[in-house]
Amino acid sequence: MYDSDIIIVGGGPAALSAAARARRVRTFNLLTASVMLVTNTRPGGLADWTKVRVTGDGWSYPRGELTQKLLSDIRDYNIPIIKDTVSKVYRERDLVVVATDSKHYRCLAAIICTGMRMTWNERQFFPEKLYGTLKGYRFMEQYFNQICKEHSGKRIIFIGTEPMDTTLSLFEEINDGRMEVVTVEDTGRNIVGYKETEDGKISVLTTNKVIVGDILHIDFESYMQNNVSCPQINGTSGFLQVDRKFRVSEGIFAAGDVTGPPFSVAKAVGEGACAGMEAYDHVHRVKFGVPAPLFAFYPNNREGHITRFEMPELKGYYRPKLLGEYVKKGPELTFREISLTAYPELIRFLDACEGLSTLDELRHEFGSELVNETVRALIRGKDMTLEV
Ligand SMILES: Cc1cc2nc3c(=O)[nH]c(=O)nc-3n(C[C@H](O)[C@H](O)[C@H](O)COP(=O)(O)OP(=O)(O)OC[C@H]3O[C@@H](n4cnc5c(N)ncnc54)[C@H](O)[C@@H]3O)c2cc1C
Repeated sequence: MYDSDIIIVGGGPAALSAAARARRVRTFNLLTASVMLVTNTRPGGLADWTKVRVTGDGWSYPRGELTQKLLSDIRDYNIPIIKDTVSKVYRERDLVVVATDSKHYRCLAAIICTGMRMTWNERQFFPEKLYGTLKGYRFMEQYFNQICKEHSGKRIIFIGTEPMDTTLSLFEEINDGRMEVVTVEDTGRNIVGYKETEDGKISVLTTNKVIVGDILHIDFESYMQNNVSCPQINGTSGFLQVDRKFRVSEGIFAAGDVTGPPFSVAKAVGEGACAGMEAYDHVHRVKFGVPAPLFAFYPNNREGHITRFEMPELKGYYRPKLLGEYVKKGPELTFREISLTAYPELIRFLDACEGLSTLDELRHEFGSELVNETVRALIRGKDMTLEV
């Protein structure tokens, strides 16, 4: 038994895109996968900081708007969001384990979308107290000069991963003693948030101390070279190598900034959608032994298996899991796409569909007719899955 067919790690555009795509397969009669998301902080990632240009000026979103668009599907599909930091992802027999400090979640496929750095609540200080640029060293010269002029006599906190030296030495050269500089090395798990102090300064909260300054500078250059937020995958860490199917290894997929440059929203959303479909396909193969009928995205006779869009055979060992929520309106239970006539035994059966009891056990308790008819209707409505 496991927690979800697919677990997505991270909460930026890659994660939200992967989650929606893995959960929402369009094909008629196709079994939906259960999906959950584990992210250390509120969803949005780096794409929530400022205006995001997806490809160019003609296609851009004001701060936060892209996240809201992506999140509306997460809400609509009832994808649970767990707030936690993932430290390791590894295979254990036929399952993939997603481990946080306090819990081990198990799934058939995991998609790692942890970006290039861990974000907390620093976005709220951008751009007044939080500085950072991705525009290169040429631009940084004038940018640093401006910061030192504006904040002369104050304290700047530099945050980055290990190779911060290049940016730091450029800053020191331009600063010429005007600002006091302190550095905080991000080791991936030591920073846990940011807070405004009573006298209007900003503090970096780490696991063992609080560092106070007037402004923060995030050295993206160092994060682009050394990724410390990615969980350990099968014992290794850093940016992840993926193949054409966005696979890191059997059952483990990755998308977005964590797969390395170029660092961009378009890549994150695109890779997320592809990784979501590939993870779904992996789950389908584990459950039914054949590729998923992903018509419109793949040919129908992929790998010699002709896809007929048949409802999966309701074998006794499958464990049905209700994915959607329903509203009771008069004599009807209304789901997202379908309605069922309400009666007490049906509601008891729906409550029992938590992926824990097998179809045989449920048939024994509620009768084959009720179980088979309800499961078929809910699979069609994309509100039920069968776990293995
Ligand atoms: C100021 C700024 C402006 C930008 N402007 C643009 C632009 O205009 N156009 C463009 O295309 N790109 C832009 N980018 C880049 C773009 O934001 C990123 O490429 C994109 O957000 C990457 O998406 P992602 O989902 O891969 O990662 P992220 O957005 O970084 O999301 C990853 C999420 O996973 C979480 N996470 C990390 N590690 C763990 C863990 N171990 N456990 C649980 N959760 C974890 C992080 O906290 C984060 O919330 C900009 C970036 C910045 C900072």
